[in-house]
Amino acid sequence: MTIETINLPDIGNVDEVEIIEVLVEAGDTVEAEDSLITLESDKATMEIPAPAAGTITEMLVGMGDKVSTGTPIAKYEPAAGGDAAPADEPKDESGEESKEEARATGASSSPAPAAAAATDAEADVACDLCVLGSGPGGYTAAFRAADLGKKVVLIERFPVIGGVCLNVGCIPSKALLHVSEVLNETRSMGDHGVTFAEPEIDLDKLRGFKDQTIKKLTGGLEALAKQRKVQIVRGYGRFVDPHHVAVTDEDGNETLVRFDNAIIAAGSQPVKLPFIPHDDPRVMDSTDALELEEIPGRMLVIGGGIIGLEMAQVYDALGADISIVELADTIIPGADKDLTRPLLKILKKRYQDIFLGAKVTNVEAKDDGLHVTFEGKNTPETAVYDRILVAVGRAPNGKKIDAEKAGVAVDERGFIAADERMRTNVEHIHAIGDVVGQPMLAHKAVHEGKVAAEVICGLPSAFTPMGIPSVAYTDPEVAWAGKTEEELKAEGVDYEKGAFPWAASGRSLSLGRDEGLTKALFCKETHRLLGAGIVGPNAGELVAEAMLAVEMGADMADIGLTIHPHPTLSETLGFAAEMAEGTITDLLPPKKR
Ligand SMILES: Cc1cc2nc3c(=O)[nH]c(=O)nc-3n(C[C@H](O)[C@H](O)[C@H](O)COP(=O)(O)OP(=O)(O)OC[C@H]3O[C@@H](n4cnc5c(N)ncnc54)[C@H](O)[C@@H]3O)c2cc1C
Repeated sequence: MTIETINLPDIGNVDEVEIIEVLVEAGDTVEAEDSLITLESDKATMEIPAPAAGTITEMLVGMGDKVSTGTPIAKYEPAAGGDAAPADEPKDESGEESKEEARATGASSSPAPAAAAATDAEADVACDLCVLGSGPGGYTAAFRAADLGKKVVLIERFPVIGGVCLNVGCIPSKALLHVSEVLNETRSMGDHGVTFAEPEIDLDKLRGFKDQTIKKLTGGLEALAKQRKVQIVRGYGRFVDPHHVAVTDEDGNETLVRFDNAIIAAGSQPVKLPFIPHDDPRVMDSTDALELEEIPGRMLVIGGGIIGLEMAQVYDALGADISIVELADTIIPGADKDLTRPLLKILKKRYQDIFLGAKVTNVEAKDDGLHVTFEGKNTPETAVYDRILVAVGRAPNGKKIDAEKAGVAVDERGFIAADERMRTNVEHIHAIGDVVGQPMLAHKAVHEGKVAAEVICGLPSAFTPMGIPSVAYTDPEVAWAGKTEEELKAEGVDYEKGAFPWAASGRSLSLGRDEGLTKALFCKETHRLLGAGIVGPNAGELVAEAMLAVEMGADMADIGLTIHPHPTLSETLGFAAEMAEGTITDLLPPKKR
């Protein structure tokens, strides 16, 4: 019979924490992760789990005792095999099951797999926290935990940290979109009496500008990691058991990392379609498209969502003939149609075709081009394109990291469910960012990363935003924050709308633009802002005020009475509130109050 001592694991920067509950006694059998005692500090209540299945032979602490990291709390006899299996239903401090807290993000809770037996190999690196994936979620979590005193290892398969966002997502796409906006704007200046010559485009230089932008940011991240003593381990990471990740580098060398806590921040990758020859270099995903290999003649973008439309805008401005095919009957499904309508009207004039409610059923790669077969409204039966961009969504990387060996449940699509403290079904393993679910956005990943790091460090943090803003950096931009009108309708919420057309905005007209709209959605009873949507130049910047107003519980009077500078586009949110209040003077009020 082997008797082992259970010592209090690292509970963060807190000393002498009081035991407020003892949940087991000598003779009890426990499963791995079953709670043994409950501690209460001034910051948080936390349950201390059993490290593995076994039988408690002696409790070494009692109620009211003060304990610190390393205090022996119980003796136990590990079960035969000693496998650490994940608890089926870890409990939070309120006693509720974490599953019930799992947020509606797209991930569905799946049965917890049995974890692999603990490896007896000696670890090369040991840490308090291991973060798998260095995207915006991963590096934020790693940096925050390091600032809170943890020894952190950050694992990344690519040579450069920063993930999709910095390397092949938000940042490079925005660098190119900036160029496309300048091109479009200078072309439109002819209508205002200023004509520029057609620009000469040096693709190598343009690519260089994009790459330099990325380099400045990723270089900065490396320096920040170094300053915080976050150890970056490069290579592909896979779980070995609930406390180890094996990282294999390009040369096949393996580093075994032992951790007390882990955060899965493995992100996502573009979805591939089975009937498309993805290995043909003329078929691109967003990563390929950002490489700007050439400007094609005819280009088909499959998917009329944000990523598809942004890349279409870049290639259109550079001279490609763009066609878009989208399964839904609208572009940017998820946004309210009154916001996407002005954009659609402009794109219809700019692009060769926009097929809505239609799909591609086959693509054949031939010497003279990519032969595409369509199905749906107003589509040709077939058409030939020089290049295709497939932008039909992103799939989470949850199934590619052997999460089951750690006992972490991954659903059939590859999502890992996490509760509002970003905990998976395994108490000491958290998950954040794209791998957790929709919306797959960098700012969601960042905030989730902070919550996960703080929870691991014993802080009472939770991810409970009133909304997550979305922005399409198209021209015009489309942005929304809080609830959309469609969501309010579907939820049966009684709401009032104030909508201000930018045709009445002096600032918008001075930019030569009149298609914009700002709408604000208020609770009919409380007048609080529930959501807002904006279409027009700079909508992405403007929507931040609406998001703050939603978070702060501002009502229509708060927003309407806030003095916005004149003449700005920011005034339009104040005007939208005044439209709802009936106090607008720049237009006729729809009702008077
Ligand atoms: C073209 C494009 C434009 C976008 N524009 C925007 C935008 O404007 N605004 C916005 O908010 N979002 C945008 N996004 C989405 C945004 O990039 C993602 O939501 C965000 O990067 C997700 O962050 P993350 O930390 O979850 O994961 P990721 O950024 O995907 O990072 C995950 C990291 O984990 C690494 N990794 C995965 N598995 C392993 C493993 N087993 N071992 C080691 N390393 C591993 C990956 O290499 C990657 O570096 C865009 C995406 C694309 C593709």
